[in-house]
Amino acid sequence: MRISFIAAVAACLLPLAALAEELPPGYWPPERTPEILDITRTVRLAPSLNELTAGERRAVQELVEAGKLLQRIYEDSLHPQALTSVATLEELSARMGQSSETQALLDLYRLFRGPIATTPDNRREAFLPVESETSARNVYPPDLTRAQFDGYLAEHAAERSELLGTHTVVKRVTDENLKQDLAMLARHPAVAVLYPGLRRKLENLKADAKGVQYYAIPYSLRWANDLHRVYLRLNNAARAVEASDEEFARYLRNRARDLLSGDYESGDAAWITGSFKRLNAQIGAYETYDDALYGAKGFMSLSILKRDEAATRAAREAVRNLQSIQDALPTAQRRQVRSDISIGVFDVIADFGQARGRNGATTLPNDPLMVKRYGRVLLLRQNILRNPELFANSQNMWKALMASPFDGDLTEQGEMSRVLWHEVGHYLGVDRDKRGRPLDVALESAADVMEELKSDLVSLFAATRLRKDGVVSDQDAATWLASGLNRTFLDAKPRREQPYQTMQLMQFNWFSERGVFEPEPINGSLMIRYERFPDAVASMLEEVLKLQYEGDRDSAEGFIERWTYWRPDLHDTIAKTMRDNRAFQYALMRYGILGE
Ligand SMILES: [Zn+2]
Repeated sequence: MRISFIAAVAACLLPLAALAEELPPGYWPPERTPEILDITRTVRLAPSLNELTAGERRAVQELVEAGKLLQRIYEDSLHPQALTSVATLEELSARMGQSSETQALLDLYRLFRGPIATTPDNRREAFLPVESETSARNVYPPDLTRAQFDGYLAEHAAERSELLGTHTVVKRVTDENLKQDLAMLARHPAVAVLYPGLRRKLENLKADAKGVQYYAIPYSLRWANDLHRVYLRLNNAARAVEASDEEFARYLRNRARDLLSGDYESGDAAWITGSFKRLNAQIGAYETYDDALYGAKGFMSLSILKRDEAATRAAREAVRNLQSIQDALPTAQRRQVRSDISIGVFDVIADFGQARGRNGATTLPNDPLMVKRYGRVLLLRQNILRNPELFANSQNMWKALMASPFDGDLTEQGEMSRVLWHEVGHYLGVDRDKRGRPLDVALESAADVMEELKSDLVSLFAATRLRKDGVVSDQDAATWLASGLNRTFLDAKPRREQPYQTMQLMQFNWFSERGVFEPEPINGSLMIRYERFPDAVASMLEEVLKLQYEGDRDSAEGFIERWTYWRPDLHDTIAKTMRDNRAFQYALMRYGILGE
């Protein structure tokens, strides 16, 4: 009797509930979303594809489909509930008639590529009903801490390189996990072929394993279904351009296999040394910034790029003095650097995964062995670097901070020079520590901060040096340095897991203590002492190169700690001026090729 009573009541209530459906608990209510969306600007990238051949346009479509799959993997690797939470939100949105409040939450998901927002004051906060973010993301057991895993790694040194591999996911040894992985492996014989011994390892893990609590599986097993589809899409794209751009086709085929094998060498070699026609693409898991636990795991990206021929020639011409800058660096370590860097200036057709955002340039790969064998690819993304809305926003904040003689010093050209030489900076300096270890292995959690800091400083060092040698004019050097200084102004205190903001704050504090900029006594607006740049830059760069060469993580972390102080009277004042004078803080990237 009870059951039918409840069913009857439910039947009465349901239509009413559907009419008046509200967001369930755990979702940000409509009052919360404007705190981000009101300071968000949509930036749309849609370069013309008219000059592409029919085959190239087909290839672009195939790459778009591959990108969508990698986007899903990226979101899944960032948060264990990302994909389920957005699916639930989409259902809710449909039931609520695409209401503005669910649309706002979908925009936030798109902006943050998952259910965790970065608030205007730089906190991470869930806006959908999911667990809080953890440092392990979803590439280690989400609740894993460094304290737990450091001890484990010390006791299982033989497995360390696999557990901290760029393209592996760490899991706990449980019957359920092993069963799941073995079932997936059985469905994907290609993965089993590419990893001989993996099946046996998984089968025997439990029995063999005295004290074994963790194991690693390759990305191509963890995301086998999606990566198999990416493999097919990349091969379709290769077929479409085979007749018109054979080298690009060969790269795509190699990279498709790399994603299954977890070994990027063949694709990297084809990418770096290939000479492609109009199209290029960055594909795979390279950058480790999202791994807040060890900075070891790569996160998936795909960028579809169209080359600008004239701008590419100009950029190649601008960096022909590489070795002379390397020789002038404040370090005792001498090194021959490659002179034939593969530089290209591109328009972004679409970005997926980790690459999606307003990043203006990329240098890859990071693996020092690949770099030594083949070099690197340097990609400048000019329709982002020269985007009028993004640049006007930076300029407004700059003008508000600076005293009048300096408020015109931030220019587009200065930004281009700084970014180009930041990327070149990754080629210069120290590439291994004194024991011969790659820097990311030696410095671990400090590696990304030190490497990005080095590159920023090499760029400014090159500006002062090329001015001294008469290669660039005083005016061009000033706008280049101004762009470097501008980059150190922060609108919120960084979290330690943010390598770029962290190293920007370090430079700000270093430059501040050395009087590179000073507040005007009367109204506090900032004056630049350009003549102090050369010493300030060289002295900091000397410290950084020394720490990289020494390869001691604790010393590097101590240096980071020393230079990341944040004072209310200094930093908060600048942050507030920036917040008060910007048109927007967040850029929501949209792409014409996706029909947006
Ligand atoms: Zn960089």
